[in-house]
Parts: sequence; structure tokens; C-alpha cells
Amino acid sequence: MRAYACPNCSRLNHFEVRVCPGCNATVGYDPVLDGFRFLADKATVWRDGAGETADVVVCANNNDYGICNWLVETADSTPMCRACRHNRTIPDITQPSVPPRWAKIEEAKRRLFHTLLQLGLPLETKAEEQPGRQGLAFDFLYDPAAEEAGKPQISTGHESGLVTLNLIEADDAERERIRHKMGEPYRTLLGHFRHEVGHHFWSRLVETDEQDLAAFRELFGDERVDYQQSMNAHYGDGGGKVWTDDYVSQYATMHPWEDFAETFAHYLHMVDVLETARAFDLTPSSPYGRRQEFNVSLDFDPYAADAKTLAETMGPMSFTLNAMNRSMGLPDLYPFHLSDAIVAKLDFVQRVLAKARQGAPRPERTTQPAQ
Ligand SMILES: [Zn+2]
Ligand SMILES: [Zn+2]
Ligand SMILES: [Zn+2]
Repeated sequence: MRAYACPNCSRLNHFEVRVCPGCNATVGYDPVLDGFRFLADKATVWRDGAGETADVVVCANNNDYGICNWLVETADSTPMCRACRHNRTIPDITQPSVPPRWAKIEEAKRRLFHTLLQLGLPLETKAEEQPGRQGLAFDFLYDPAAEEAGKPQISTGHESGLVTLNLIEADDAERERIRHKMGEPYRTLLGHFRHEVGHHFWSRLVETDEQDLAAFRELFGDERVDYQQSMNAHYGDGGGKVWTDDYVSQYATMHPWEDFAETFAHYLHMVDVLETARAFDLTPSSPYGRRQEFNVSLDFDPYAADAKTLAETMGPMSFTLNAMNRSMGLPDLYPFHLSDAIVAKLDFVQRVLAKARQGAPRPERTTQPAQ
């Protein structure tokens, strides 16, 4: 993701900023503008087709809990931003460990939504759900007694557009413990969100389209194979399928649904990483001889690029960024390898999402930047 200029002093800030460190102005992110507004701004709000000047309205989760830095597009009595309006259950914030964990979860979720909005994907809430148009909702759950007892916790997962995320995943030590136990090279809140909404978009976009569903089965396998049996095989003594080059992660080998969700997450990873690189003009070039494949250019919009272009750029870019992380003693930024078989799956994801973008109505522009 790119950096955002403060609307008051033009300092470049990160996406999470609430108070600009340069000028102390309180700012909020406007998803329609894809930029930040100074909260003293007036905005044009569109009501019944007519524009009227109104104060910039902050998300109710900012007013009530100080947990969101997005602005909303309407002057409803309890306005929720485009990311928060999908929350179905929020955790009990009277538990002392909850507010900082929930804040981390919402931060990751806003980054997810930023990418989904830039991709122009259809985003119905559960209240807006119609046949063939599954809504998306989130339950953020926490069981303090289970954490205390070290007992199995609520599982993170997806069912019919409802994403459940265990708050414990926002605890760095616990998430790292689970990552290690599962033998995963990468486990983050943002990665969880990108994976789980991948399941939602499979139901929303692939399952509802006969041709896409047939193409999905060709590439990923038949999803009608029993999920529970696949899971038992994956976690059982005999192990599941061997992790070959055809899968972006070991978890992807478990079932075609998981393969799709993992591949979907990787498509979002690549688009965001390459968009960041493009915004900061970070282009790898080879000082090590004349290896042509290392000299790539980022003169394209990652949000509109095909999967082959993304993958060809991601190779040298991730090598460079992994080297950068290693120079700070950190784990690799992108600890994955993209084979031709994975790129073919990424190509499927990219084409399904591009088609959905064409089919979806343009996002309504209900506010205008202040003049
Ligand atoms: Zn500023
Ligand atoms: Zn919000
Ligand atoms: Zn999954």
C-alpha cells in the first residue's frame, strides 16, 4: 500500500495514522477518496440525489471505541464505515486483554478492505444478502476461560460468508506458538483475513458461475470430496497429500477449498506488495551480472495486471525484500516459491476477480474532497 499525505501538512503517513505526527491534526481515511481528510473539513454529502455540505463523519467504531480511523459516506445516526459495517459480533471489551487485541484485528481488517475496495469487488453485508449474492460478516470471538486453562479455543474459519476469528490470534506469542506447531512459514492477522475471505469469494463468485466452477475443478480439484475426511487425512498420522510445487502452501494441499483460499490470499499479498513497491519506486535490478530475469520494471498497475506479470515481478521483488529482512535478522518477507502450476491458479483467481469488477456497479461516490 502507498503512503498517504496528511491533508493538513502534506507529511507522508502510514495507513493507520489517526493523529498526524507532523502537525497534530486529527485525520481520518476516506475510502471513497482513497485518501485522508483533516477532520475539520467539510465534505459534500449526497442525500436523495442532492449534494449538501456536512461535517466529515467518523465511523461509529471510532466514536464509541476509538478503534477505527475511517470516515463514512452518510450522515446516518449510527454510521459504520465500509469495513466495520460487516462486523456481526465484537468481543466483550470489558475484558482487559480485549481492546488492544481487537484494535490489531481491526487494523488488519481495514488493510484487507482497502485491497478489496481497490479491486472493486462486490461487498454485501448479511443484511443486503440475496440469492446468489452471499453477504460477508465477521464474528470476533474470545473465550478467556479457555485461554486461562490453555484449552482448545474457538477456531478461526469461514461458513457461508461468516468469518470467525479467535481474538487469541492477535496475541503475538500465541500466534507464533501456533505457527511453529503447524510448521507454517507465515502466519499473520492480515494473512488470516485474506485466506478466510477467499472462501467467501469462492461461494460468492465461483460456485455461482457454472463455467468458472468447471474451470476451478480442472485446476484445484473437485471440492465435493468430503471435507472432514480430507481434514482428518491432513492432520492424521498418515499425513495428507505431499506438499509439491503445485500448491502455494502445505495447508493448500488439504482440500480444493483451502487451495483456493490460500491462492486467493497470495494474489492479495502480491498485489499489495507490488503496489507498495511501485508507490515507493522500489525496483530490483541486478548488480550481479546480466541475469535478465532479475531486471523487472513496475510500470504497471498491480491491481489490473495479469497473474503472470505479477509472478514474474514478485520473484525478484521478494528475493530483494527477503534480503532486506535478513539484513535486520527478520524472517523472510515472502517465504514462498511460485511454480507454473501455482501461477495458473493465480491466473484463475485474477480473472474471476476482474470479471466481478466489471459486473459490479461502480462504488457510489457520495462524498467529494473538500475544496
Ligand atoms: Zn500533518
Ligand atoms: Zn470503521
Ligand atoms: Zn480455510
